Amino acid sequence: MASQQYDVIVIGGGPAGENVAARAVKGGLSAVVVEAELVGGECSYWACVPSKALLRPLHALAAARSVAGARQAVSGTLDVGAVLARRDDFAAHWDDAGQLEWLRHNKIDFVRGHGRLAGERRVQVSAADGSIAADLTARHAVAVCTGSRAAIPAIPGLKELRPWTSREATSARQAPRRLAILGGGVVGCEMATAWRQLGSEHVAIIQRGPRLLSGFEAFAATALAEAFAHAGIRVLTNASTVRAERAADGTARLALASGDSIEADQILVATGREPRTDDLGLASIGLRDGTWLDVDDSLRVRGVSGGWLYAAGDVNHRVLLTHMGKYQARACGDAIAARAAGRREAADPAPWTAWAATADAAAAPQVIFTAPEIAAVGLTEQQARERGMRVRAVEYDLGQVAGAKLYADGYTGRAQIVVDEARRVIVGATFVGPDVGELLHAATIAVVAAVPLERLWHAVPSYPTMSEVWLRLLEAYGL
Ligand SMILES: Cc1cc2nc3c(=O)[nH]c(=O)nc-3n(C[C@H](O)[C@H](O)[C@H](O)COP(=O)(O)OP(=O)(O)OC[C@H]3O[C@@H](n4cnc5c(N)ncnc54)[C@H](O)[C@@H]3O)c2cc1C
Repeated sequence: MASQQYDVIVIGGGPAGENVAARAVKGGLSAVVVEAELVGGECSYWACVPSKALLRPLHALAAARSVAGARQAVSGTLDVGAVLARRDDFAAHWDDAGQLEWLRHNKIDFVRGHGRLAGERRVQVSAADGSIAADLTARHAVAVCTGSRAAIPAIPGLKELRPWTSREATSARQAPRRLAILGGGVVGCEMATAWRQLGSEHVAIIQRGPRLLSGFEAFAATALAEAFAHAGIRVLTNASTVRAERAADGTARLALASGDSIEADQILVATGREPRTDDLGLASIGLRDGTWLDVDDSLRVRGVSGGWLYAAGDVNHRVLLTHMGKYQARACGDAIAARAAGRREAADPAPWTAWAATADAAAAPQVIFTAPEIAAVGLTEQQARERGMRVRAVEYDLGQVAGAKLYADGYTGRAQIVVDEARRVIVGATFVGPDVGELLHAATIAVVAAVPLERLWHAVPSYPTMSEVWLRLLEAYGL
């Protein structure tokens, strides 16, 4: 058993953990990453990367078909085998050798095994056979970056049906003929899009609330619901599942509270996430096992004396996205290094400094890779009003922009900005339409930098690009 001391111990080698360690090392500290499964985490093998690898060929094909002249060149259908093979390549065939090389290159030590806190600044690592593989102590900090897993709702009979979670939905080798998806959030909508086109004849989304994508602007959800209807994806809203069972012929049946039932060959559970903190030794330091870790803006866990425990990524429940987890990780690793060096300005960092993940609450961007694509940053109109802002939402038909017309025949889409009337800055933006994801970073910059509308007027979009919608939005606002 190795007994070793490091400046920083990181539990969990997903995108957040890797980046906490890298920034700590860049700041002059020694760091070790403890990973129970694959370095690279959920994102690399069972989430962002494989899901986008499944979706990209569908969008590429749709793009070619949407332009006369190119359309005529598309004579065949989607090669599902090739799509899955490309997905496998992107998931590195579920082998983390490349990521281990990245750790080595960044001078980060590595221990494979399950890490558990064993008191202040101490982490014990168990090997797969249960033996203690390493006993580690941290001079400065322990960062918990253990991520999240799919939560399985307590529906009688559901577990017995062995439903897919996001892991199986992103790594499956075959489309189920009938797929029923519990949950109309981002994962449910993306996977419905993917598997419908990869061969599932019947796809149904069972959504408890009144609409899809509850945290996003309603117009985006409406556009997606219409596209789903067109694509043969059934959406049941205000629908709750009360029981799950398997029929004699192997069919899975979900009984709904309305009395209806849905039959499927495979169920996908996409109803949210739970923290991977149930077997982490949190009780050894006075915290509750199985809870999300509550952190301040420098990612330090609240309520831990000595301030040595940090948590970055999904596990703190701030924004469950890879790029935001990595952003938090940069702030976290830099804060640990700055504090170790005794830098006073890092002790209680001001917003928008290198040691504070301020954008989490103000400007988190997200792209949903459905058809149409949805891209959003910052606050929805409703969220802004809930925060007490006096806002005005301004929208524009993206299909009227010359760049969009040229981009695809009959392009349909919509853009909306939410303007804080007191400061005359944009606090949120949402785009819907093919490939709008690439419009998002301009919006993110406008929100983060709080660019006054009068100044934004001088950011002239190139003609003829879809970005011309920015000019149209400002004109619609009244500039
Ligand atoms: C289907 C799907 C698609 C997604 N698509 C996107 C997308 O397109 N873009 C985006 O930004 N986000 C996306 N996300 C979200 C993204 O996957 C997560 O936000 C991201 O993976 C979180 O990174 P993390 O480092 O916090 O945790 P994870 O990636 O979950 O990594 C945590 C790591 O910690 C390890 N671990 C856990 N407990 C222990 C322990 N006790 N000891 C040692 N190791 C441990 C785990 O094995 C894992 O490797 C998607 C999520 C899903 C489910």
